[in-house]
Amino acid sequence: MSSRKPLGWGLIGASTIARQYMVPAINAQPDSYVAAVMSSNGEHALAFATAAVIESAYSTVDDLLADPGVDAVYISSTNDRHRDQAVAAARAGKHVLCEKPLALDIADAVAMVEACRTAGVVLGTNHHLRNAATHRTLKRLIAEGAIGTPLAARVFHAVYLPAHLQGWRLTQPDGGGVILDITVHDADTLRFVLGSEPLEVTASAAQQGLASGALEDTVMGVMSFENGVQAQFHDAFTIPHARTGFEVHGTGGSLIAEGVMTQEPVGTVSLIRGERRELVDVGHRENLYERSVREFIKAVNGTGEPAATGEDGVRSLAIALAVRESVQTRRHVALRYPY
Ligand code: NDP
Repeated sequence: MSSRKPLGWGLIGASTIARQYMVPAINAQPDSYVAAVMSSNGEHALAFATAAVIESAYSTVDDLLADPGVDAVYISSTNDRHRDQAVAAARAGKHVLCEKPLALDIADAVAMVEACRTAGVVLGTNHHLRNAATHRTLKRLIAEGAIGTPLAARVFHAVYLPAHLQGWRLTQPDGGGVILDITVHDADTLRFVLGSEPLEVTASAAQQGLASGALEDTVMGVMSFENGVQAQFHDAFTIPHARTGFEVHGTGGSLIAEGVMTQEPVGTVSLIRGERRELVDVGHRENLYERSVREFIKAVNGTGEPAATGEDGVRSLAIALAVRESVQTRRHVALRYPY
């Protein structure tokens, strides 16, 4: 047991993800706990605090940041609010674990990274899939040469948006849509697993009955990576019966991961070489969000890095925005990364 003072977390956003996954993940650590929650709706903050047994509830970010028990914040408000809340937290000297997409444009995401650098606080992006034993196994096997030279990847991330989440994702012009919600995760996971960066993207999107206004609820596309890999992706809110998956095909074999684009520590990884298909042992299946919080705490303590850094969040956002630009312009879009 460490003698270090436990890390007190303030939740900015009394959200579904905070309630379902992050409060349990924070409280599961021996050295951290949720100290406070903030919602712009004071009654909602109070109800959330009561249900999750959190000591303090606030209705403004400033009040939460003034709480001396808050050392770090977890931001899971709607996407349009991440930037201002993260910058305010950094200026108040709090470490920041922020949900994806970090922001709505690159300048705002860069401002978040810079604010945290200037304040000397940690910034992490909550790209949970990097923490999955399955994706970590894919990354390791590819790096070990198990499939030779990777040539192609396929990401199947088309799901049906559950009824209780059919709100701002389908209606909010700034921050809604499947690209900022799901493609941004594909971008991060592909970068992580392949250890390479997309150079160019091309994509096509549509409305299939859920999203409104100019928002897309389905998108398909291709990312071309620096290492020569072509990756196809299909993301949707509208597909009730498909399975998710992540495949990488190389000169010497193929890796097939099934049921892995999910919040749970589930799914399988198979290695195919010729006629032989072998199920790979992915080792301990830790809760994805517990691992995210644990790595973040290590970074706060100066003994590691967040599983996905702020710079990773900037890159995944840059890729998602390039996908959206490709949809809008019907052209290939070259990636430009600020970092
Ligand atoms: P929710 O719609 O559940 O919550 C978003 C905001 O809506 C809350 O912060 C709150 O605003 C407001 N809100 C929600 N419920 C109520 C209520 N009953 N009464 C009043 N206000 C309410 O969002 P999600 O949890 O689905 O997503 C939040 C963020 O997390 C997004 O950035 C999303 O992209 C990300 N996300 C990440 C996932 C991951 O696995 N990494 C998975 C799911 C989401 P207020 O801030 O004012 O309290």
